[in-house]
This record gives sequence, structure tokens and C-alpha cells, in this order.
Amino acid sequence: MGSPGLSREELERYDRQIRIPEIGLEGQLKLKEARAVVIGLGGLGCPIAMYLASAGIGHLRLIDKGRVEEGNLNRQVLYREQDVGRHKAILAAERIRELNPHVEVEPVVEEVSEDNVEGLLEGADVALDGLDNWHTRLIVNRACVKLGIPFIHAGVKGFYGQVMTILPGKGPCLRCLLRATPPEEPVVPIVGATAAVLASIQALEAIKLITGLGEPLVGRLLVFDGLKMRFEELLVSRRPDCPVCGGLS
Ligand SMILES: [Zn+2]
Repeated sequence: MGSPGLSREELERYDRQIRIPEIGLEGQLKLKEARAVVIGLGGLGCPIAMYLASAGIGHLRLIDKGRVEEGNLNRQVLYREQDVGRHKAILAAERIRELNPHVEVEPVVEEVSEDNVEGLLEGADVALDGLDNWHTRLIVNRACVKLGIPFIHAGVKGFYGQVMTILPGKGPCLRCLLRATPPEEPVVPIVGATAAVLASIQALEAIKLITGLGEPLVGRLLVFDGLKMRFEELLVSRRPDCPVCGGLS
């Protein structure tokens, strides 16, 4: 016997979540019906995809045009030594299906650009930032604001990271935060465990948004210092003159 919308296997699998009174069966069904898009399947994107899938988010679109390189393996925990040279999106989809066959996974081997971003976000309830460059993040930010899709941003470097949830029209967007586009770094140095801290927060933010629980990181940039082992919260306001979200009411 299952319950409406969840099989017996799913009830068993998600038992420890369903036991959380705030989630319950109703919340678990919301997770099953949700569609999340993970953009970038690197140090952030791998653990994001794993935690969304293990929590039972029903539909995942996993986007990355890259192939696995030896130098990815210190942090990109979905890939193995023998995967070097293979497409990350295809591999990630395979591994996520092994982790949870109840999740519908759609791999996309494409680079996100102005031209394809809206199509790639189609139908999404939430988009998660697994990117390593500001140019693409700002393309995704603009599209999410236009389409009204929540966007959970994170960035990492070395022992440091930051995370903020963007709810279009309800709080600042990434462009409100960044008056100028930060300089790009061709190779971002990173300890894998730092990326996992931020990715885990992103996954939790997505789960909260989908189930309608708690307080999202809207208008609050959470900054992580792994050396001092401290989190700091910086308040961020919407800019009325923001070229991306300034026109939204
Ligand atoms: Zn803005």
C-alpha cells in the first residue's frame, strides 16, 4: 500500500523526512511534483543534484556542456577516475538515477547563453547556481527575474563562499548585489568541502521554497569563512534603479 501520489517504496525512502511534522506527506508530494534546474555540474552542482535527488525532488534538469577532467575530482563528487573525458551532464544523470530511480532526470549538454537560457529554464520551479563565472550567472539572473523563477545563487573560492536566494520582485537580484560585474578568474582555486557547505545550503533553500517552509535567504547574503569557521550575514537591498529587477513591482 502506498498513499495517493507516493508508492510504498517512496514512503520508505523518504520516511525520515515525512516524519518531520512541517514536511509530512503533503510536503513530500510537493517535492515530488517540483521541477528544479541545476546550472553547472561542478563543485556546487554535484552535491546540489545529489541532495535534491535524495530529498525526492521529482524532476531535475542538469545542465553542463563540459567533460570531466582529472583536476575536477577534488570536489565534483559525482565523478570517478574512469570518467575523465566524458560529458558531466550525461554522467551526472546516470549517477542520480542510480541514487534515486524515482527522480526524472534530464541531462542537457549545452552552454547557457542569452539565446537558450529561457528555454532551459522552461517549467522550472527553482533554478540553482552551480556556475563558476559571473557572466553566465548574470544571464541566468536576468532570465529568472523575467520569468519569475526563484534563483539560488552561490559562489565559492578557496575556503570562502557566499549564498543568496533571489525571489523575483520580492527581494534583490544578483544585479542589485553587484553594481559592477566582478573580474572573472579562469581557474578558481577551491577546497571541495567548501563547495559542499554552500551547495548543501542551496539544496536546503530549494527544499524550503518548494515546501513553503521557513525563511529564505532573501535580501541576506550569507558569507562563509571556512578558515575562521564563521558565517556572516550581509543585508542586501533592492535597488530601484537595478537594470534587471528595478521595473518589477
Ligand atoms: Zn535587481
